Amino acid sequence: MIALVSGGSRGIGRAIVQRLARDGYDVAFCYRSDADAADRLVKEVGEAGTRITATRCDVSDSAEVHDWFARTERELGPVNAAVTSAGITRDRPVILMPETDWDQVLRTNLDGVYHVCRAAAFAMSKRRSGVIVNLSSVSGIYGNVGQANYAASKAGIIGFTKSLAKECGPRGVRANVVAPGLIATDMVGDMSAAAMERMLGNVALGRAGKPEEVADLVSFLLSDRAAYISGSVFEIHGGGTF
Ligand code: NDP
Repeated sequence: MIALVSGGSRGIGRAIVQRLARDGYDVAFCYRSDADAADRLVKEVGEAGTRITATRCDVSDSAEVHDWFARTERELGPVNAAVTSAGITRDRPVILMPETDWDQVLRTNLDGVYHVCRAAAFAMSKRRSGVIVNLSSVSGIYGNVGQANYAASKAGIIGFTKSLAKECGPRGVRANVVAPGLIATDMVGDMSAAAMERMLGNVALGRAGKPEEVADLVSFLLSDRAAYISGSVFEIHGGGTF
């Protein structure tokens, strides 16, 4: 079994790569710039016996994603599972938001998902088998102050994935969304202590989630135990209110 993970070098994507390797997948992941983090992960997971490849590929670039996917199938074999975790934030209130911040976030988070899913769904549909999980966010469901660009991209992923599930279900391909709340990764590392405390005050379990906890849910959705689950959105936020 082969799994493809975008944004697999750090954070939630990294935990997903580690988990899927333990589940018995060979894994191809991509990253945008941090080659050291990617190399460390390849070494760690590779030493445990998993076939693993890391590719510098900007998911906002359709040609780069096309090449990454083709190379993965050439080197590892047919991709059975695809997970899109690559994502960025450029937080600012709408009235102060420059077009560059809007464009970068939409191009990375939403176009990126389209590029990866188009390649994966095409190959999987031909083989009449495959499963896709796209990472959205509670911001895409409930909205969030200062995150209109991010929320729009994450809401877009939900509509996109539900449509994909309808198109590809008859061809044996499932697609679902995981929408996390506050998860302890670099992405939230810049948040001030006060902002973090405010956010955690709205979380029933009183703590941020761990990347591994999101990876567990992704692992389940990719497995045959989720064989009748498609076109659904799974929130994972420790009982948060947003
Ligand atoms: P991190 O910032 O920790 O990691 C982001 C990963 O995505 C890195 O591997 C990074 O690679 C990669 N990446 C970023 N841009 C690109 C690009 N253009 N092309 C390819 N790879 C790219 O993020 P998280 O792990 O926290 O987030 C993972 C996903 O989960 C995102 O989609 C995020 O929106 C979502 N999410 C996260 C939450 C959280 O609280 N952390 C909450 C809700 C959703 P590199 O290091 O090389 O740039």
